[in-house]
Parts: sequence; C-alpha cells; structure tokens
Amino acid sequence: MRTPLIAGNWKMNGSAELIRQFGERFAQAGLPEALDITIIPPFPYLDAAQHAFEGTRLGLGAQTLNPVHSGAHTGEVSGQMLKEFGVCYVLIGHSERRQLYRETDDHVYDRTQAALSVGLTPVLCVGETLEERDAGDTMQVVLRQVGHVMARLEPAQRQQIVIAYEPVWAIGTGRTASPEQAQEVMAGIREYQAGFDTQLAAQLRLLYGGSMNAGNAAELLAQPDIDGGLVGGASLKVDDFYAICQSA
Ligand code: PGA
Repeated sequence: MRTPLIAGNWKMNGSAELIRQFGERFAQAGLPEALDITIIPPFPYLDAAQHAFEGTRLGLGAQTLNPVHSGAHTGEVSGQMLKEFGVCYVLIGHSERRQLYRETDDHVYDRTQAALSVGLTPVLCVGETLEERDAGDTMQVVLRQVGHVMARLEPAQRQQIVIAYEPVWAIGTGRTASPEQAQEVMAGIREYQAGFDTQLAAQLRLLYGGSMNAGNAAELLAQPDIDGGLVGGASLKVDDFYAICQSA
C-alpha cells in the first residue's frame, strides 16, 4: 500500500554531464512499476534536470529551502522558486544542515511549514550521532526530532510528510546500519506516528539513509518498515543508483 521511494541526494556534487547521463539511463525500461524515484541535485542543475528527466521515471527534489517566500535573503532559494522547476520533494533537516549550518529543530519546523505551504513534500531527515547511540539515546533523539515537527502540524499536514532515518554515523562512512538496527528505529517512528493516527502511521513513507549501496539495498528495503532509501554517494554513479532502484 506504500509506494517505495528511492531518492538520490547528490549533496554538493554532480555536473551537467551527470544530469545528462541519468536522463538517458532512466529513459529505459526495466524498473519496478510501483516505485517513485527522485534525484536531488544542487540548485543550479534543476533547470537542466527538469528537461533531461522529461519522459523518464525520475522526479526532482531539492536539498533545502528558505522558509521565506521572497525578499532580501542573499544566497537563499524559496519553495516557490523550486516549484517553477518541477521540484516535488525537499530535504529538510539533513544532518549536514544541522551540523554544518546550525539548523535547529525550530528551523526544521519552519522549513517544513514553508514547503507544505507551496505544495512541496518535505523529506524530514532525522538520526542520532554515534555518541548518542552509544549512550543508548537513539530512540529518544530520533523521536525528539520527529516530534518537534509532527506534534505541531495539523492532521492533514502530517499526511504529506516523508521521514528519512539517517544515523549520522552511517552517512558517508561506508558503515551501514544493519537491517535490524534500521528496522528497530523505523518501527519506533511508525509507532510514534500511530499515537496521532493509526491510518497515518500505516501510510507514512519511511526511508533509510546512510551508506546504502547496490550491495546492501535489497536487504534493507526488505524490512517491513523501510519504504525506500535516501542515497548519497551511491546516487552519483548511474549504474549503482539504477541497481538500487531495481532492488526496490
Ligand atoms: P550516503 O549519504 O549514502 O553517502 O551515506 C546519505 C545522505 O546523507 O543522505
């Protein structure tokens, strides 16, 4: 009942040439029917990607947005602007934004509201650091991050959210959470959502992120509460990303 979603987060990587390669490759048949796929390139490539991905299975996402619609915010990009380029999804609260750009739970909430207000689907990113995991605080940290947004949304808004669980210690490290570790946290997130509404919990799409690759994707995606992946490094290689999509 939940359509899987595989999202490729290019971070500050990629090129016009890579956009072209993805457009060409994903125009071919051979992918599961019931599967949403999206590429999340840096802002300057959105225009080229919108054209290159036309007629393919690839949708478009953005890596962040400013909560304000327009105005004197040098260097920032708004949700309305993203909409003009066919963007459907926007990452919010990625751990790199939280750590390197000091985004707090309040910023994450404001950005979620901004995304929802223009009809973008927020992909709310949550996850614990290694210290937090070792201290036994994983579930508490993750549910604080989820709850800070979810508890303040209207019921109808909650249905629009996708949540990506990305243990910080697994991002870009080659150290993937085991399927059991990931499943345990995802089940906890779904159970938390059931506290608002059981129907919502059943429909919520939960993505795993953190060193997902062509070799480990199938096993992770086979877990009952994992509905897709947020893929960083392996989304920069067209063959690897295609293989991950095939295993969904
Ligand atoms: P990774 O990144 O797949 O390179 O670990 C995932 C992410 O940060 O979204």
